[in-house]
Amino acid sequence: MKYLSTRGDTSPRGFCDILLEGLAPDGGLYLPTHYPKVDAATLARWRGLRYAELAFEILQLYIDDIPPADLRRLCEATYTERVFGTPQIVPLKPLGEGLFLEALSNGPTLAFKDMAMQLLGQLLEYELARRGEALNILGATSGDTGSAAEYAMRGKRGVNVFMLSPAGRMSPFQQAQMFSLQDANIHNLAIAGVFDDCQDIVKAVSHDLAFKRRHRIGTVNSINWARLLAQVVYYFAGYFQATKTNAQAVSFAVPSGNFGNICAGHVARQMGLPIRRLVLATNENDVLDEFFRSGRYRVRGSAETCETSSPSMDISKASNFERFVFDLLGHDAAAAVRTRELFGPTLAREGGFTLSATEFAPATRVDGFGFASGRSTHADRLATIRDTWARHRVMIDTHTADGLKVAREQLEPGVPMIVLETALPAKFEATIREALGPDAPPPERPPALRELESRPRRFTAMAADAEAVKRYIETHGGPAAAAA
Ligand SMILES: *Cc1c(COP(=O)(O)O)cnc(C)c1O
Repeated sequence: MKYLSTRGDTSPRGFCDILLEGLAPDGGLYLPTHYPKVDAATLARWRGLRYAELAFEILQLYIDDIPPADLRRLCEATYTERVFGTPQIVPLKPLGEGLFLEALSNGPTLAFKDMAMQLLGQLLEYELARRGEALNILGATSGDTGSAAEYAMRGKRGVNVFMLSPAGRMSPFQQAQMFSLQDANIHNLAIAGVFDDCQDIVKAVSHDLAFKRRHRIGTVNSINWARLLAQVVYYFAGYFQATKTNAQAVSFAVPSGNFGNICAGHVARQMGLPIRRLVLATNENDVLDEFFRSGRYRVRGSAETCETSSPSMDISKASNFERFVFDLLGHDAAAAVRTRELFGPTLAREGGFTLSATEFAPATRVDGFGFASGRSTHADRLATIRDTWARHRVMIDTHTADGLKVAREQLEPGVPMIVLETALPAKFEATIREALGPDAPPPERPPALRELESRPRRFTAMAADAEAVKRYIETHGGPAAAAA
């Protein structure tokens, strides 16, 4: 399997070539040249597999530069009951009326990002050892991504993590989760500033190409293809649990921000998994709902991006969305020319673009790409959390509530609807209390995390200054240090 860029660069690259890459050199995103089709016999065989086996079967269709025995071992090391809490890894919970919750949040940081990041940690360690290289991962986080990256990379040979976060601005739980890590290769830098300051520092360091090369700086952000690929697996696993035969179709509802999670569903559907509808749910930051209603993609400014009670979906633009547009336009050379124009000059000039009616039409047709969408507000979130607790004694988090609210609107008779649970309610106690009142029990925490806030903390406080961060990386994470 080779990978190409959505903006036209087709120089042949294998999976391991793009494993450590962010954007393609032409500014596009990497995609496989084609999506392998899964035939009926294969789908029937996969139905009986354990999660780690299923992950191997799907990954090996896209990865031909890691020997199969090694890839299988990495999948088995990643998807274990010890890390994800159950033998099924992503168990399904019925909510009646054909609705199901698929549990993706039982990994170490209680959010679905662990599903992909844990595998990425294994893949990175493997590939760096094979090349005899080291990597310094630099990132900025306001919560979920940073902690998922740290828990995936902790103790991994050849990898250091430098994670910038705005001092005092994460939730107490998120802060305790990250700062309590004692691993020598994990560096929490608490920056005096807001999240945008952290992100600006990461950009400034990355734009210093000489520094970047000398210190082997890399990222693990949501446009990384390996993360997206790992997420394809749980669409198959959810489908097998919700159906008895492969003649049945299901729909998925996905709480969405940067379009990474639902893009993996799109890939699964392109491979031939019987998905009827991919239901995209946004919060008040409804860039993507607007697109799927109108064909218009309008990036928001920071003044127009609101802070909501489902904060991991507070986005102004969706960084993975370009992948879908390239596929919608035909996934070929002509599509690359058009994608390049839309996401390059048009977006820069006009802050967005509108597809023609002909270009847009297949996006929402069931015989096309099958997307539907909806939006959810703070009041909807509270009502959905309350209703789900009252009727089923199931506590859901605020992001999952956005998904469930929109799922109900799109429910069709006879078609199971699987809502992806993207975080556990324990991460968002304040909003849960607001929804359920003081008499409801607090959201449950896994036993290992009960006294999280009282653990010793390890972090370095720093000014919002790119030079200071560079000096820190120089002393704590040169390639030599990383390789040690
Ligand atoms: C990251 C995240 C999302 C959004 O996922 P995308 O892949 O960016 O669409 C939704 N919910 C939670 C809890 C998240 O952490």
